Amino acid sequence: MQHLHVFNSLNRQKELFEPLFPPRVGMYVCGPTVYNDVHLGNCRTFVSFDIIYRYLLHLGYKVRYVRNITDVGHLVGDTDEGAESKVDKQARLEQKEPMEIVQHYTNGFHQMMQTLRTLPPSIEPTATGHLLEQIEMVQAILKNGYAYINNGTVYFDTAKLIANFPDYGKLSGKKVDELIAESRDNLKHQSDKRHPTDFAIWIKADPNHLMKWQSEWSLGFPGWHLECSAMSTKYLGKEFDLHGGGMDLQFPHHENEIAQNIGACGNSPARYWLHTNMMLLNGRKMSKSDGNNVMPKELFSGNNGFFSQPYSPMSFKFLLLQTHYRSTLDLTEGGLESASKAYQRLMKLYQTLLNISPAAQPDAAADAEISLFVKKAAEAMNDDFNTPEVLSLMFQIAPRINDGFIAKASAQQLDALKTSFRQFLFDIFGLYDETEADSQHQDSHLLAATLDLILKMRAGARARKDFATSDLIRDNLLSIGIQIKDSKTGATWEKI
Ligand SMILES: [Zn+2]
Repeated sequence: MQHLHVFNSLNRQKELFEPLFPPRVGMYVCGPTVYNDVHLGNCRTFVSFDIIYRYLLHLGYKVRYVRNITDVGHLVGDTDEGAESKVDKQARLEQKEPMEIVQHYTNGFHQMMQTLRTLPPSIEPTATGHLLEQIEMVQAILKNGYAYINNGTVYFDTAKLIANFPDYGKLSGKKVDELIAESRDNLKHQSDKRHPTDFAIWIKADPNHLMKWQSEWSLGFPGWHLECSAMSTKYLGKEFDLHGGGMDLQFPHHENEIAQNIGACGNSPARYWLHTNMMLLNGRKMSKSDGNNVMPKELFSGNNGFFSQPYSPMSFKFLLLQTHYRSTLDLTEGGLESASKAYQRLMKLYQTLLNISPAAQPDAAADAEISLFVKKAAEAMNDDFNTPEVLSLMFQIAPRINDGFIAKASAQQLDALKTSFRQFLFDIFGLYDETEADSQHQDSHLLAATLDLILKMRAGARARKDFATSDLIRDNLLSIGIQIKDSKTGATWEKI
């Protein structure tokens, strides 16, 4: 294994990544709340962690990657009580069952993740599918004395936690007094809490709340932060390697996850906390309410008021790769345009590279240049997944590929360069050649049209009772892997 260093938000520094049980790695990433279409900022987070997941696999780790679906508990305004549930609100708006909302937006999320060529996680648990585990965790927290019940709602007792574990607030870098001031601002039912930083882990439902379950405390539902503690513990254990999410989740979500795990299990869940930075649109925060927002589909179709043309999913993904995941990314026309061009140049470069044959008389200088590239690219990725640096190294070696210098390399080194490019572009970055995919798409249209014509000719032969011709067509198509199925309404075909 190479020496991978990751920036651990918990200690605000790059640290050597040492899994608890190598070669296994446990990785948990906070997934989407499925009450609306996934937005570009979330896409950035999930693409970033997909690249991290892919890179860990590339290094030879056996990764269990858990990314949850939040389908209950997340309240409007990200508060932990008092407000309406995001899924409930959308269900009322669309006049649907909450689970219809959940299914619809989960499907849309999965489609977008495929469009962006991300790998599915190993386990994708839902909050509603883990009510028992969450109730058990509330029981454990109560039993350990880190929670109290007030009027059917169970609150986490942060004052008690801080007394025993003064590290509360370490992840978000907030001082306890700041936390108190901040949560006091958000406090809706202050009288129900003992302490302003306390938060609800089980919430008694208002009569009009749609999604609710029976528990010993009340007919209610779990607090938003609880599901991640319960599900990460269930699938990855009380202590696991890596926890990720968007930077906006550091507080209160992740801070409270840590609190709950300490309350229930006695220790903080993850050893390394990784956070992706936010995405801006033309220098301003993306926000639906003030109109500064583009949805992924609008970006890809060009149907938006911000950009003069459509940008493809891979152009957008390339822009993500060109910025380090911990840096703010500003989505601008200029940035997208140059990312789109750079992406196409790199795909072309890869084709050029594939067509190069090794020299009969290798030149040591060409071999050395390749060794240096392979070494530096690995170092860049091992330095907290520095994808922009890898891309920049690829563009640095590009002129040497295009001017024929690399063709002077030995077979072995040339092969190493081809492998390195292929692994980075396709296995680790999860890109694909859109122009190639387009031509495949066109090919399948052509095949469908051709077969349509052949089936019409065969139907004509059958009508003339020319069964010899009809059978000849059927048997010949079968021999190239296409099966014709006759029915009353006519013949259809399928690839076998
Ligand atoms: Zn979470």
